Amino acid sequence: MPVRSSDDGNVEQDAPQTLIGWQGVRFLLPPEWNLTGFSLDRSNGYLKVDSPGSMFAQVKWTDPKYTQSRSVAEWAWRSWKTYRGGGVAAGGDPDLKQTLDAFLKDTAKAAKKSRSEFECKVKPESEELGGQRMAHNFSWTGNGQGQGKIWYCRECKRVVIAQVVGTARDPVPAVASVMFSEMRDHGEDGWETWALFDLVIGVPSNFSLKAQKLMSGYLRLEFQRIGGEKLVVERWGLADVALRRFSLGEWFEKTCPVRQHAGRVAESEVNGHKAVMTSGSVKSPSAWARALAEGAATKNPALHYEAAAWSCPEANRIYAVQVWRGKQTVGLIDEVVARCECH
Ligand SMILES: [Zn+2]
Ligand SMILES: [Zn+2]
Repeated sequence: MPVRSSDDGNVEQDAPQTLIGWQGVRFLLPPEWNLTGFSLDRSNGYLKVDSPGSMFAQVKWTDPKYTQSRSVAEWAWRSWKTYRGGGVAAGGDPDLKQTLDAFLKDTAKAAKKSRSEFECKVKPESEELGGQRMAHNFSWTGNGQGQGKIWYCRECKRVVIAQVVGTARDPVPAVASVMFSEMRDHGEDGWETWALFDLVIGVPSNFSLKAQKLMSGYLRLEFQRIGGEKLVVERWGLADVALRRFSLGEWFEKTCPVRQHAGRVAESEVNGHKAVMTSGSVKSPSAWARALAEGAATKNPALHYEAAAWSCPEANRIYAVQVWRGKQTVGLIDEVVARCECH
């Protein structure tokens, strides 16, 4: 366990911390922690990150803004649950204490099942980040120990509850202080950081995750936004093995639909590495018709295709970024590639 808690409570670390980024939520954990649970749903999200030992971190959030667009009935039900009992504080902030009490009651139930004595402490509500958030810090002991925080973000209107859980002997307070020191719940300047398994990318906030494949040697994240524009980021491991059999250009044509969109492959450079790039347009009549239909609302149908791939010898990985975009969305691929941290 590379994180130690020194006498004065500061956390020291010997290796780079783990950055986790998902649906606008972003935080640090000690080295070697890995994402093990997640939801694709933006409105009612969940993340679980496991340590190499017995600790884990959990984050849950609700995002009424997205819930509303999905189902009015579901949204009404959720707001009723959040605000029931007249629990709306001044300024329309939701009653966090009520949600936290329900959460701690569930934790106490679990402790009772394991015949452990449950105790919890909740700090008074405080303002954070210059009044952007209202928060309660809490800790509990029972079946192990937990330290966490519940808050409401007045900017993105999310309610987030997050905690670090471990055994009585684990340095839970030290890990919680790492986790909450820089924790954010929404992106900045219209971009969100997605970070998992050492992949760190930036994606415009109005793209939402549509599909994912998270395997040990292969990661794929597919995003889409209203109007049908699409963004795909992929990463392969063991680049040295793959590039013994194929050149980077051959790998690019084999894995991305370069020929299908009739793009010419040009050499380029990304993050100081040799790269290949292409641009073309959607050709098949069915894909064309679909792009036109989806892009009708935005008058910016995703008929243009751009892609880039590069190998990073430092990380021994190959990266590919593909964009299906409208005519007006110029420069998206460059911005995404520039935000992709490969080593
Ligand atoms: Zn926020
Ligand atoms: Zn690199």
